[in-house]
Amino acid sequence: MSVLHYLNQGLYCPAADAWIDPPCPVKRAIITHAHADHARPGCGEYWACDQSETILRQRLGRDIKIHSINYGEEFRLGQAKLSLHSAGHVLGSAQVRIEVGDEVWLVTGDYKRCHDPSCEPFESVKCDVLITESTFGLPIYRWKSGKQVAREIYEWWRTETEHPSLLFCYAFGKAQRVLAELKSLGIMEEVLLHGAVETITGHYREAGVDMVPTRPVSELERKDPLKGRLIIAPPSAYKSPWMKRFKEPQTAFASGWMAVRGARRRRGYERGFVLSDHADWTGLIMTIKQSEAKKIYITHGQEDVLARYLTEVEGLNAFPLEMLK
Ligand SMILES: [Zn+2]
Ligand SMILES: [Zn+2]
Repeated sequence: MSVLHYLNQGLYCPAADAWIDPPCPVKRAIITHAHADHARPGCGEYWACDQSETILRQRLGRDIKIHSINYGEEFRLGQAKLSLHSAGHVLGSAQVRIEVGDEVWLVTGDYKRCHDPSCEPFESVKCDVLITESTFGLPIYRWKSGKQVAREIYEWWRTETEHPSLLFCYAFGKAQRVLAELKSLGIMEEVLLHGAVETITGHYREAGVDMVPTRPVSELERKDPLKGRLIIAPPSAYKSPWMKRFKEPQTAFASGWMAVRGARRRRGYERGFVLSDHADWTGLIMTIKQSEAKKIYITHGQEDVLARYLTEVEGLNAFPLEMLK
């Protein structure tokens, strides 16, 4: 019997009677990380990394039933032996290792291989069957280091002294990575935050992540022209009434999608910084090879392209996840 089944867009483990990142409410959910497309409300119980507990409660409800697991700690559900391993994606992100009988399966969730001072590094885990994401599974995606991108952001911010600089990026993960990368460059200036970014940044500070000083922009005088200040906000605030507070700001968006020509222009940002919390092409191939998996299933992105490359060039057994039944 298969360790995992791909049912109704979700991964089900019969031996554990549990789902991984279920798309709808189920009795027992194992959560790779607290991003909204992986952690959904309404489940009977949640099993997740201890570092994501606070954010999960904030997003799914304070009273949800959570079993908090440390990285590497073994736990049993039914006939399955499980453990969570750092995925290097955001605070508390985990890969799920499932052992049933003498077979080991690994579900990566979202992951990246670039250094990120705001979360633990990716841990390479060996397995028989690997289920990997492939959000950026095309050879055109190759990332610069986060440090280098932070330096570009800093230059962009500091050369504009007459107006505020508005940087848009995901409120959970990306914003804190930028703040931590700026700190790692030795920068001491205060950065102002939109309320949604402020809340999650607080959770990161509680977890001990070192970042530049921050303050909610709402604490500043409404009359303050915010000349030369950097403000970080979620993409949903772009062109919203919230933006009226800023006079002729320069705007930018930080995302892996900024690597796609035209994406910045279509959305209207003046500047794009290519910064992703997913593995690039090199990172995906390296991870797949290091797992030594005999079979690879690919999801979330360019399944066919990556499967074909792995089969034809690397001589591996790779399939889009829909092939897992
Ligand atoms: Zn994610
Ligand atoms: Zn995701």
